[in-house]
Parts: sequence; structure tokens; C-alpha cells
Amino acid sequence: MLEHISVCRLVMRSQDGRELRSFRFEDEAPGQEVRAVERRVLLETLAGKLPPNTISFSSRLRSIAWQGKDGTLLELDDGRQVLAKIVIGCDGVNSPIAKWMGFPEPKYVGHCAFRGLGQYPEGQPYESKVNYIYGRGLRAGFVPVSPTKVYWFICFNSQSPGPRTTDPSALKKEALDLVQTWPQELLDIMRNTPDDTVVKTPLVDRWLWPGLSPPPVAAALNGSSSAVAVVVGDAWHPMTPNLGQGACCALEDAVVLAGKLAPALTGSRGAVVAALGEYAQERWARVFPLTARASLVGSLLQWEDPIVCAFRNEVMIPRLVRLGPFLEHTNFECELLEPIASN
Ligand SMILES: Cc1cc2nc3c(=O)[nH]c(=O)nc-3n(C[C@H](O)[C@H](O)[C@H](O)COP(=O)(O)OP(=O)(O)OC[C@H]3O[C@@H](n4cnc5c(N)ncnc54)[C@H](O)[C@@H]3O)c2cc1C
Repeated sequence: MLEHISVCRLVMRSQDGRELRSFRFEDEAPGQEVRAVERRVLLETLAGKLPPNTISFSSRLRSIAWQGKDGTLLELDDGRQVLAKIVIGCDGVNSPIAKWMGFPEPKYVGHCAFRGLGQYPEGQPYESKVNYIYGRGLRAGFVPVSPTKVYWFICFNSQSPGPRTTDPSALKKEALDLVQTWPQELLDIMRNTPDDTVVKTPLVDRWLWPGLSPPPVAAALNGSSSAVAVVVGDAWHPMTPNLGQGACCALEDAVVLAGKLAPALTGSRGAVVAALGEYAQERWARVFPLTARASLVGSLLQWEDPIVCAFRNEVMIPRLVRLGPFLEHTNFECELLEPIASN
């Protein structure tokens, strides 16, 4: 069982700590589930289900090229070479595989995020609720992810991503300076965060316009080659984190792709290409609208204008936001996968 916290409430506040709105999931969206999971726990749980030595760590891809009829040749930084019939590119937002397939660089959207994990070895004191705090061009949030850890984030407007800061204590100070007069709970959690775990990320996305964006599936032009490549997750559809759906969509991609690809593997090259085509079509319909919606939500939440922010805090959040539609995009029915065969 994946260690997680089942979140039962959502509270929205202004930067001075005033409560703007509070929801109990049970009352306003019965059956709606929200789970907070630490990324490390999720990755270790997924990796733990694989046969030993399936994952080769510290193996950065240096180059990739079609290799005649034999497949696709991947060269790693440590000099190793891998010849693959099917390449699944799940190498994140700066994917070299997506670049090779013709995707443009993701676009910076005008805000950056700080993230961290507050640590409480003796037990964290917070309720299992998501907390959002809204300022002008600046917002923050926190949620417990385990009995001893609390995740927090800050999103702030910035015309450019700015220089890359490598000093961890400077990074944490930069984050604290942004919210120094904000609610004490947030500041306590940030202060309980080890410096070297604070991360700053420029937020980017890539809109998969039909007809303009390359397909996520590529096949070697050489008719006698069986080589194909496909991208999943952020490598294909980086989206801003404003809906908290990027990793969820990457997992959905993986489940759908595995469901389509597994039965095709025993068939011809045509069957494999058709399975990948189905994956591309099915997933595009899910990820393109989410990328657009995440971008729109981000622009609304990062408003700076004092009048617009007052409207958001006094009218929009207290009167117009409904929890059901607010979370409905998180629901996705995945087919169940066959369990992995144990040898
Ligand atoms: C501030 C912020 C908050 C977020 N919050 C949420 C949230 O609440 N919920 C949610 O669902 N999503 C959230 N996301 C999005 C989420 O982090 C990503 O969508 C998710 O990590 C994508 O998973 P992925 O496996 O596609 O890529 P990644 O998690 O980026 O994994 C890519 C992997 O590829 C490897 N790699 C990279 N380059 C190479 C190379 N050259 N060679 C070999 N390997 C390589 C990396 O080491 C890494 O292991 C958030 C993102 C940000 C920035």
C-alpha cells in the first residue's frame, strides 16, 4: 500500500490569514478522493514492483538515432550503447527524445515555483487538509504528505526565470523573503525544511496544437526497420502545475500505453504502430485540454492587479467556486493492467 495522506478538507485564505472559503470533501463532493503522496515514496513503490535490475540508474542519454533495420541506437553518457526496437521517452520536461522527435522547447509562462518538504521527526501537527493562500502575483500552499512531512509551494510572477541559484540556503531565504508577513503556519513549515531540499523551478508548458505539434509517435522511415519511438508524461505534454495533474497524467499515460502495447508486442510492426497511434489519439484528448486549463487557472491565480485580486478574494472564491467542478478534472477511469508475470 502506497503511504499517503487522505485529504478531507480544502481551505482558501488571503495572505493576511483570513479564511475566504473552506470545503469538506464529504459535504460538497461526496466520493471525491484527494491523496497527498511524497514523490520519493511513489517512485520507490513503482520501482519496487519491477524485477531487480530493471532500472539502470545514472544513465543519462547523450544521443539517439535510427540505426538502419536494427532499431534505434541510444548512447549514454558513460559510453554504453543500447539498441532498442521500441523507445519510450519518459525523460521529463527537457526530454532529449522529444527534441529528437521534433518537439519545440517548452515555453516559460511567466512564473516560477519554490517547493520543499517541511520535516517533523517527532510528528507534524497539521490537519489533513490542503491549504491555499492567495496574494498579489504570489500564492502559496501546503499539505501534509506523511505523519512527519508537510509539502509546501510558492508560485510567484517573474518576467524571466532568473539566474540559477545553486546555494541552497540562499534559495530558501529567497523563498522566505517572498512571504515573510504571511501566515505563521506556512513560515514554520518552510523553516522546518532542510535547505538542500528546497527547489526552484521556472514553470513551462507546451500546447499540443493539432496539425502544428509533431505526433508523439515516430517510426523509422526505412520500411525494413521495426524501430519506433513514443513519448509519455512531461516529455510529451509539459503542463503548468496549477491543477496538480502533471504526474497524474504521466501515470495515466503509462497505464494506457501499457494496455495498448502489451497485446501488440507479439504482432507485426504494423500492430505496434497502430497501438501507439491509439495511445496518442486517446491521450491527446485528455492532456491537451488539461494543459490549456492549467495555463488559464495559473493566469487567473497569479493576478497582480489590486482590484482584480479583491474581486477574486471577496466574490469569486467565497461565492462562485464550487468544489465538484473544481476537482472533476482529476477523475480518470483507467483500465486495470494485467499483473506483471513473475519468473
Ligand atoms: C512546482 C511543481 C508542482 C507540481 N505539483 C504536482 C502535483 O501536485 N501533482 C501532479 O500530478 N504533478 C505535479 N507536478 C508535475 C510533475 O512534477 C510532473 O508532471 C511529473 O514529474 C512528470 O513525470 P515524468 O515521469 O514525465 O517526468 P519526470 O518526473 O521529470 O521524470 C523524468 C525522468 O527522466 C530522467 N531524465 C531526464 N533527462 C534524462 C536524460 N538525458 N537521460 C536519461 N534520463 C533522463 C530524469 O532523471 C527523471 O528520472 C508539479 C510540477 C511542479 C514544477
